[in-house]
Amino acid sequence: MELKNKNILIVGLGVTGVATARFLINKGAFVTVADRKKEQELGSEELLIRDLGIKMELGAHRIETFENADLIVISPGVPHTIDPVIKAKEQGIPVMGEIELASRFIAEPIIAVTGTNGKTTTTTLLCKMLEESGLKVFVGGNIGNPLIAYADRREKADIVVIEVSSFQLDTIDTFRANVAVLLNITEDHMNRYSDLNAYAKSKARIFENQQPDDTAVLNGSDPVVCSLSKDILSRKVFFSSKKEKGVTISDESIISQENISRLLADFKLPGKHNMENAAAASLAALAAGGTFEGVGSALRKFKGLSHRLEHINTLNGIDFFNDSKATNVDSVAKALETFERPIVLIMGGRNKGSKFYALRDLIDKHTKALILIGEAKEDIMAELGSIKHVEAAATMEDAVFKAYHAAKPGDIVLLSPACASFDMYNNYAQRGEDFCKAVAKIGTVYS
Ligand code: ADP
Repeated sequence: MELKNKNILIVGLGVTGVATARFLINKGAFVTVADRKKEQELGSEELLIRDLGIKMELGAHRIETFENADLIVISPGVPHTIDPVIKAKEQGIPVMGEIELASRFIAEPIIAVTGTNGKTTTTTLLCKMLEESGLKVFVGGNIGNPLIAYADRREKADIVVIEVSSFQLDTIDTFRANVAVLLNITEDHMNRYSDLNAYAKSKARIFENQQPDDTAVLNGSDPVVCSLSKDILSRKVFFSSKKEKGVTISDESIISQENISRLLADFKLPGKHNMENAAAASLAALAAGGTFEGVGSALRKFKGLSHRLEHINTLNGIDFFNDSKATNVDSVAKALETFERPIVLIMGGRNKGSKFYALRDLIDKHTKALILIGEAKEDIMAELGSIKHVEAAATMEDAVFKAYHAAKPGDIVLLSPACASFDMYNNYAQRGEDFCKAVAKIGTVYS
């Protein structure tokens, strides 16, 4: 693909936009970056790219800039359905996402992981498995390290592992994953997709360009994933998790049933969902050249990630768990199913168009009280308020203190919001840290 002297427009100036701009300048292109943000809203790193000779168009988009480009590259945060992009497409101007562009300049094998939940956990674990197998790995994509930064790098890895979101898959064309993992599909981002079917179709694009010698790792316990699998051309391997039987696999072309069970016996993260993540990572790692020993060693060492069902502290016999990354209904369902003990659940934040009532039975079975925070308080109250004792809280500290009072020794206090954090915080990590701070305060106030 020739980029030299081409007029290229990048839409969206975040971490990925900056990395894309650097890549394109190094390839000799003329680069413009358009972003709806104003200059004062940009960080210093973003403004620095001006020194590379890049034109910036901030504030409102100008349609002529889109229509005069030879190519438009979209950052993952920008919907590909915005008006100027649609109009440019109608004029025949090629439009692609950063993953698509990057993949055209990568020769190494690519493993890609997608799904509604568990992507970061699985991608991180998979990367550790390959490293423990002695391979040099680049890990990136939606996990924070743009793939285009790797394409721009001189020093190459043996293998590239990426986490991909449905938004990134919306803008691929020829992108091919040698090993592709689909963990699960449940309702999420209903503010960006017309329905679950449209969202599922977008996720299934991870397999679109796979060839018969590639591998698809699929969740056989997930009905939506299974329904999408018939069109896949590559070798399909399913993992399924049953509470009583552990994880089973559909065929033994990668590893025997006995050996996968042996490997997973050493994995200690709580919950059936984490067992699924571990199975998916193991199959993908082995399909991509990881060793049995490397996979086993990573499974034994893996402690999980912050803000995902993370045990914070035990105070007065009450265990506190931070699951701030649970921003949709299914991740909360999985958290509730993980525990046998009574839970005081803190939920709320910015509603993403979720159906909270889908949690009714699990809330009824597993929780003793609900504490609500953020903008979604009324929505959640309307859908779940009749089931359990519900209290509204003004701040995270208020929520944690109320939860502490509602709990008894032996109970669990769980922050698992089923909502985005942006009504109160910059991101889920800040929300999780605020929860931890409030938990720490209980120790000082009530000791
Ligand atoms: P993602 O990158 O897809 O958002 P994470 O690994 O960051 O996934 O986890 C996000 C949330 O989903 C956390 O609350 C975590 O406990 C939960 N989770 C992790 N794996 C799964 C899974 N396989 N199914 C459902 N929920 C999961």
